[in-house]
Amino acid sequence: MINTTNQENNEKKPTKATGSASEYNKIKKVIAVMSGKGGVGKSFVTGLLATSLAREGYEVGVLDADITGPSMPTLFGLRGPVNSGQYGILPLTSKTGIKVISMNLLIEGEDNPLIWRGPLIAKAITQLWGDVMWGNLDYLLIDLPPGTSDAALTIMHLLPVDGIVMVTTPQSLATMIVNKAVNMAIRVGVPIIGVVENMAYYPCPDTGKRHMIFGESNGEKVAKAAHAPLLAQIPINPVLTQLCDFGEIEDIEFAETITLMEAFEKAMPIQGKTDEKVVSESVKENKWVFAGAIDDPKKPLIESDAIVNDHDKAFSDVARQLIRLKENMGCFEKPDACGKVTGWCGDTMEIQLMLDGDVIKEARFMTDGCGATIACGSMLTKMAHSKPLSEAMKISPDDLLTELISIPEDHEHCLSLAVSTLRAAVNQAMEKLSATNLKN
Ligand code: ADP
Repeated sequence: MINTTNQENNEKKPTKATGSASEYNKIKKVIAVMSGKGGVGKSFVTGLLATSLAREGYEVGVLDADITGPSMPTLFGLRGPVNSGQYGILPLTSKTGIKVISMNLLIEGEDNPLIWRGPLIAKAITQLWGDVMWGNLDYLLIDLPPGTSDAALTIMHLLPVDGIVMVTTPQSLATMIVNKAVNMAIRVGVPIIGVVENMAYYPCPDTGKRHMIFGESNGEKVAKAAHAPLLAQIPINPVLTQLCDFGEIEDIEFAETITLMEAFEKAMPIQGKTDEKVVSESVKENKWVFAGAIDDPKKPLIESDAIVNDHDKAFSDVARQLIRLKENMGCFEKPDACGKVTGWCGDTMEIQLMLDGDVIKEARFMTDGCGATIACGSMLTKMAHSKPLSEAMKISPDDLLTELISIPEDHEHCLSLAVSTLRAAVNQAMEKLSATNLKN
């Protein structure tokens, strides 16, 4: 079962969908993104929300349950195949660290539309839920099938959803759709935590004047009817469509993404982020900032003027990069040796090794710990690569810190946790090797 640890009250939410990967998953909040009909930008808003939350330092996953529409992997520029490890399916990771899984990644030929009926879609998604190795997530966003169909209803029934974000546009038949959505939310017992009005207006690039292309805004009215806050009103901009088509949704940054993220954070707060906090204050002053949208699409979004909070200053750039990229995080289908250790802080790490004789061919790690633990696991598995077992055994916490340059002082115990875990894995490898040698 997926472990949805609620940090505020330490209660484990009962989950209905099950799967073997889930014992490694710790998901703080599960949010379903819903719309009354297709084409209103539900997937776009899901992607944008994921991007804004990840930019703010949250660990974010996206489960693309809208398998009949344009696929979430396209927005993030991700392509399959998806790998599976010993414990389940490993989601793909976007360039800013968002974990994404979609049925479209698991079927052959992503251009073939899935001609499935509602019950089958719901069944596939709930199965997918239990089989994906998400690891630690602050927020998992589910891009629901459009409308208040049976598929959407069943998915919400079976998955442990904490809240719904509703996406509308000005031309939507507000009252009818909201009534349907509110009824659906009541039926599944999940609150609507906010409304996003997409394509609310078109800002004239020359004058800034707002043109109501799809009619007068009704975001406030919809929000009122849903008894939920209006999280954001997102304008129409053709550059957005272009960036989405090119898989560059993570390069979109404008004032409304901040508004959306802040309102969402307020509506669905969690305690303690899993990742480090990176805030680009400069964006709050800019109206539209498309990082290199036209001249340089690969330009990094967060520039050197990004503000990093005090605590996180102690993470070196090397450590930050490892936390973002999570290099070597995962597992092997059939590891040659494993070590698993729980530190005094309660975090657990597992390191798996693939061997070539007595040399470590590859090492991977998994952890339910914080960003510092991820940095330690990632760097240590890199250091162990190509080393004979006897050499790997000698790596000390100080050696690891030298490579990481710095991590916050109050997280230095993560160095020892990682080193102890590697030593446990090396010990097991040595034992297995000597047993084989004895046999021969
Ligand atoms: P849905 O998931 O509701 O079916 P999508 O998110 O796939 O809708 O959006 C439909 C299309 O509209 C996509 O091509 C998307 O890039 C584009 N789009 C969505 N919102 C905006 C916007 N605010 N400005 C410009 N294009 C948008």
